[in-house]
Amino acid sequence: MQSAITQFSSWCSENELTISTEKANYILFSKMVRSPKITWNGYKINRVKSFKYLGIHVDDRLNWLEHINKQGEKAIKMQQYFKRIAGGNWGISEIHRWTLYKTVIERILAQGSSAWCLNPTFKMKRKLSSIQRPFLLHISGAYRITPTAALQTILGIPPLHMQLQFEARFTSIYRLRIPLPPFITDTQPHDLEMKVTGWPTHPSEHLKPNQISFEDGEAYIARKDIINIFTDGSKTEHGVGAAFCVLTNGIWAYQWYAKLNGNSVVFQAELTALHEAVIYASHLPNHNTSKIHVDNRASIMTSSNSKSTNETARKNFKILLSNPRMKVSWVKAHAGNIGNERADQLAKDATQHGQSYSHTKLPKPHIKVLLRKRMLEEWQTSWKNGDTGRKIYNIMPSVSLRPTNWIREDVIFFSQHGPFPAYLKRFHLSDSDYCSCGGIGTALHYAT
Ligand SMILES: [Zn+2]
Repeated sequence: MQSAITQFSSWCSENELTISTEKANYILFSKMVRSPKITWNGYKINRVKSFKYLGIHVDDRLNWLEHINKQGEKAIKMQQYFKRIAGGNWGISEIHRWTLYKTVIERILAQGSSAWCLNPTFKMKRKLSSIQRPFLLHISGAYRITPTAALQTILGIPPLHMQLQFEARFTSIYRLRIPLPPFITDTQPHDLEMKVTGWPTHPSEHLKPNQISFEDGEAYIARKDIINIFTDGSKTEHGVGAAFCVLTNGIWAYQWYAKLNGNSVVFQAELTALHEAVIYASHLPNHNTSKIHVDNRASIMTSSNSKSTNETARKNFKILLSNPRMKVSWVKAHAGNIGNERADQLAKDATQHGQSYSHTKLPKPHIKVLLRKRMLEEWQTSWKNGDTGRKIYNIMPSVSLRPTNWIREDVIFFSQHGPFPAYLKRFHLSDSDYCSCGGIGTALHYAT
């Protein structure tokens, strides 16, 4: 370390740069008890236990507890402000408290989670749970003794470490392009559709104004000098299909269809159909004018935008740019247009009998859905095998991301809390847990 610093220090002198020794610190990631003495031109550099970088507190044990504590304190401070506008039974409604938690508090706690919450330790899980608890109590208005696991199920809010791990996994595979362990998913980063960035063409280049039209193009079909191409994409219970068909001089001259990966979305099918259609049209003799009829506005819009982040759309744009006689026009779907009806039927047939089309990558929602499902399974297992909140478990055995919308009184009643003898006895507020009929006076006893 000292030799590296000496080297850096002489480089700084050569380039007439200085550093502030008071502001310089070092952190030691080691089990060493005694720390080494590090100096900069004779000045001692101070050792720190943690430092903050890009909003993340990195501690010298690399266990992230310092970060979680700091973010927890920040979130609690934020909650103090919320409490002033909402109490247990007055102020803003439960659904708004729920929304504030999900959109503000959870976001604070999720800061940089991809760096530290991919494989949370037991200590981290416990700490995150204790941070989450006061918020769950506040949203539900439940009694202080209600178990955390029950509150999570009632509110449709997963345990914090699971939520953050879900986000860390997503960032890992989708943004950092690091594969996840096979027990989570076999999907590889390169199977996923990426957003493209930068300029695909010189910004001064754009399509001719008459190349794109959002007017219903039906009137053109009668013109003999135009090659009409109809595209469509379809998703049925059998799968996803894309197709186009070509109408020249009143004759069906060509057709193409293919079956896409079953995880594709309809938009990908629409865009793929348009892509194959523009490739087909670009191979036609130069003197031909072709008009491609598309019933999906979004795929026309993105294919005519030079800065679209969709890879296929960018390819479509480039082909349209170099073929000014190629036109794309919107056509109203299910309006009896013969070409559109035929393309629709072809795309539907393709979902069953089409040859598989291998160029499509999986869309972003696919991996999100998959990881969310995984999180729900893990949450369900811990709810099923847990030993707290069993009274709620007997009523709600399945977890879900939707809140139950129970009012405060419902939560108290179903937790078997409230001014009933069985509850009062438990907390030594009454000598007897009997109802006047002789049965045990629980909430359910009185209700039934
Ligand atoms: Zn009774």
